[in-house]
Amino acid sequence: MAAPKRIAFLPGDGIGPEITDEGAKVMKATGERFGYTFQIDFGWIGGSAIDRLKNPLPEETLTLCKQADAVLLGAVGGPSWDRNPPELRPEKALLGLRKELDLFANLRPTTLFPGLEESSTLKAEVLQGVDFLVVRELTGGIYFGEKFTEETPAGERATDTLVYTEVEVERIVRRAFEIAQVRRGKVTSVDKANVLESSRLWRKVAERVAKEYPDVELDHLLVDNCAMQMIRRPADFDVIVTENMFGDILSDEAAILTGSIGLLPSASLGEGHRGLYEPVHGSAPDIAGQGVANPIATILSVALMFRYSFHDDAAAKAIEGAVNDVIASGARTMDMASTESLALSTEEVGDKVVEAL
Ligand code: ATP
Ligand code: MG
Repeated sequence: MAAPKRIAFLPGDGIGPEITDEGAKVMKATGERFGYTFQIDFGWIGGSAIDRLKNPLPEETLTLCKQADAVLLGAVGGPSWDRNPPELRPEKALLGLRKELDLFANLRPTTLFPGLEESSTLKAEVLQGVDFLVVRELTGGIYFGEKFTEETPAGERATDTLVYTEVEVERIVRRAFEIAQVRRGKVTSVDKANVLESSRLWRKVAERVAKEYPDVELDHLLVDNCAMQMIRRPADFDVIVTENMFGDILSDEAAILTGSIGLLPSASLGEGHRGLYEPVHGSAPDIAGQGVANPIATILSVALMFRYSFHDDAAAKAIEGAVNDVIASGARTMDMASTESLALSTEEVGDKVVEAL
């Protein structure tokens, strides 16, 4: 038997503990079927870590994550910590983790689940066959550039700086090409090369890297056009790769195409196999503790863990197939159900996925 996979298990705040329990359940069931064992190490993070240890990202949690093969995270934050000073904000833990683990690639798949077309804002025929992945650069660009405000005769003047190095662009673009090779072989690189110098560098590097992947087709789209095409012809995209801020905006746009926020998983990856897996949604304090949250985003994040950290596409597909079957059978948590009386609990949906596996 192979060595156990080490999992840093960080439930966090709000609905975090409820949904990560279901994620862990599915992870163990998948492990039984595909021959994995796990060493699961709990860590405090976010608001609950502030309450206990006065630190949103305690040293012991960080150490756990650095020793782990993968991190499974619920969500952080909530109204009780909203007025905290900046260093005691739960969200600080996420930035800290990304930086400390050098997770420069954020992956967000968008797929269509059976019977959920009606919950989308788009027409069913436009949604047919939607299956794409946004690869967002996560540690560079304008969010991390130099920023300052100064007094001028024209009033205050505020500056944000958008910087990318060739190395930073190359590693994220390369990651997109590698992923496209095992998908449908198409990369759309998104930039604003008609006006931004950093985008011209981005495009040049993308062109150069593309030569090493002759089996992958590369095209370029300006970000404003991409925002439009994502809604007009979403089924045409395979892998979209873009810089930090454009990716932030486009991935939220992608998120609403196919239905509930409770369905969307994410992976954040660095150079090695280690990754951080978490649902796209937040801690949903409004429904926390009621056992009604949708666990599917977290369960699909576990599928991404098998795919990207354990390089086991078969196990990932088994989880995705099970989720598909459960949704097709009509099982729904409150956010997906058309009437509340039909809604299942968080735990019931998790159990159904395990059964389907
Ligand atoms: P954040 O700032 O962390 O993004 P937020 O309050 O902006 O938090 P969410 O926590 O994602 O956003 O919640 C947005 C809405 O979506 C809330 O009404 C919440 O109840 C709902 N929601 C989020 N996740 C789920 C889920 N897994 N199941 C059901 N509803 C959810
Ligand atoms: Mg939010």
